[in-house]
Amino acid sequence: MAEDQRDDMLLDEKEEEERLLIVIQAVKPEVRELLGDEEGAHVNRSLGQYLRWARSPQHRQQALTRAADLLETYPQTQVRVKQLKQKDLHELRGLYPYAATGGEVSAIILQCPVEGCTYRKARQYAGQRLICPTHQANLVPVRKPSTGAMG
Ligand SMILES: [Zn+2]
Repeated sequence: MAEDQRDDMLLDEKEEEERLLIVIQAVKPEVRELLGDEEGAHVNRSLGQYLRWARSPQHRQQALTRAADLLETYPQTQVRVKQLKQKDLHELRGLYPYAATGGEVSAIILQCPVEGCTYRKARQYAGQRLICPTHQANLVPVRKPSTGAMG
């Protein structure tokens, strides 16, 4: 019984981590608008560092906590974080499919392999199979990102 309880707790922690990760990734592109160019650029850079740091599992929790703390120091971003934190994980995943996978955008945007077809869709989780509604073809990863600079 104790084992089961511990597993539940670990699951909750994981979900909380993912929720926080999505919230941070979702707010990051908005910080320049929310905080102005100078402060926004600084916060954006710091968040980028924390998110890179968060890729390593042993540092993830601390990195996400620090990123959240940073966002909470400004009233404008604090409000956004609060709004997003009210949503449950399922809703967040739906709203920000890129963020759920750690922002590996090019790896999760899939496109129809049929020449001339522009159908594209974001994968919500690793290994998800998506099909073009027009050609019934399995979507394949987009080879080159359509935009250059990000963030
Ligand atoms: Zn197609």
